[in-house]
Amino acid sequence: GLAPSLVALLRAAVEANPDGEALVEIGGRRLTYRQLWDGSARVAGGLAAGGVQRGDRVANLLPAGVDWVLGFLGTVLAGAVAVPVNTRFAEPEIDYVLADSGAKAVLRPGGPLPDGEPHVVADQAHDDLAAIFYTSGTTGFPKGAMTSHENFLSNVETALRVIDLDRAEGPSTRNLVSVPLFHVTGCNSQLLVQIGLRGTTVVLPVFGVQAFLRAIVDERINVLTSVPAIYALAMAQPEFDAIDVGAVTRVAYGGAPIAPALVRRITEKFPNARVGNGFGLTETSSISTFLPHEWAAEHADSVGFAAPVVDLALAEVDPVSGVGELLIRGPNVVRGYWNKPEATAATFVDGWLHSGDLAGVDEHGLVRVVDRAKDMINRGGENVYSVEVENALAGAPGVADAAVVAVPDEVMGEKVGAVVVPLPGAEFDPEEVVAYLRERLADFKVPQFFAVSPDPLPRNPGGKILKRRLRDGTQWGEPVFGR
Ligand code: ATP
Repeated sequence: GLAPSLVALLRAAVEANPDGEALVEIGGRRLTYRQLWDGSARVAGGLAAGGVQRGDRVANLLPAGVDWVLGFLGTVLAGAVAVPVNTRFAEPEIDYVLADSGAKAVLRPGGPLPDGEPHVVADQAHDDLAAIFYTSGTTGFPKGAMTSHENFLSNVETALRVIDLDRAEGPSTRNLVSVPLFHVTGCNSQLLVQIGLRGTTVVLPVFGVQAFLRAIVDERINVLTSVPAIYALAMAQPEFDAIDVGAVTRVAYGGAPIAPALVRRITEKFPNARVGNGFGLTETSSISTFLPHEWAAEHADSVGFAAPVVDLALAEVDPVSGVGELLIRGPNVVRGYWNKPEATAATFVDGWLHSGDLAGVDEHGLVRVVDRAKDMINRGGENVYSVEVENALAGAPGVADAAVVAVPDEVMGEKVGAVVVPLPGAEFDPEEVVAYLRERLADFKVPQFFAVSPDPLPRNPGGKILKRRLRDGTQWGEPVFGR
């Protein structure tokens, strides 16, 4: 069964492994489990002394590191609700989150953490709110996902089962957090899963690819969890082949679509690792489906099977393709959006979360997420999944990276456009790329418009391409194909 609350989860880790290393900040402090507990309880005491009561929201604007974790866990031990804030948000976005959440206290960089006599609200229960995570806003204004203790705890259990790590080997696991702690992958599926394992969370405060590679070696990392873009960048470094990644036994990727070619490279470059794809949303407290190692090589285009506690369904299924909107139900699905009854009613219907992702399920139960509904291109009635075209482009001559978005068209409504980042030193030839794609894709899916970007594609720290920005800001050339 699940622990009664996050307080109990942390306490169990402290009792089982008091002197074990709980938390490391690269270039900063290292804490044992006992120190993690004591430090968090002092933050809780400081919050309580400052008037924070059970259920009050405490916004966390701190950069990733030991203080962020003490602030988060201290808020939870105080019985308050943690509101992790995206550190990349601009002033008006921060103001929006502080006002929307009604934050009673704000943990800010530069200010000392609250400090007081150790204080723990021990009688918290599954249904109590523990955090509000704001969605990254790639498809609209950020919405606060109300995450309960049960939501967090069920994700910890799912993660332990799907990544196939048991509690006996747990204390020796060392997981490197290279994605933000303010999103669910870093917080729920790394920090809290490591606490569930009684292992070590190593936080890279500022992502840099060289620092990432050094941390794998110096911190003897054996579990990696990250987004496709970071693996692609790391493996592209000449230094990668010089470092020894033999100790890495788990490599989990997810959070954004991944090209099968990249899955193959990960499998080759981490020879001792079980690799796997995790799919989820802020609204599912992280993992909803997982593709285990045994299936990853042959079904690299899949996000795997429903997590043990999760039910999946498809809505409005297209009879030809079998693709419909993915619906998700389970103890990891959040309680709704804070302060947004209408958005909650539209997204959480009869216990089912409407994910906004388009997916199909095959005869094995393997799920394939083909696109986000909002990114799909409707070319005069033909549906084009941007991810499928991006995956084909990933192998095209001269292409380092690519994003596919809709280009408005008077006749067709939308046409297919591609923003391409050329390989260093390579000449990008649209005619050649079109010829390559026409051998692999139906005509109507082949981009007609190309824009070449000298800069990396705009991505959020979760590795997702900011397509809205590309749709709004790209100057398209003349159509290359099918004019
Ligand atoms: P917003 O809802 O504000 O636009 P967001 O969608 O970026 O923010 P998240 O909840 O972090 O916020 O993203 C969830 C989405 O990420 C999923 O709906 C899916 O489209 C995508 N995703 C997550 N994991 C995977 C994966 N393994 N493969 C493909 N897509 C994934």
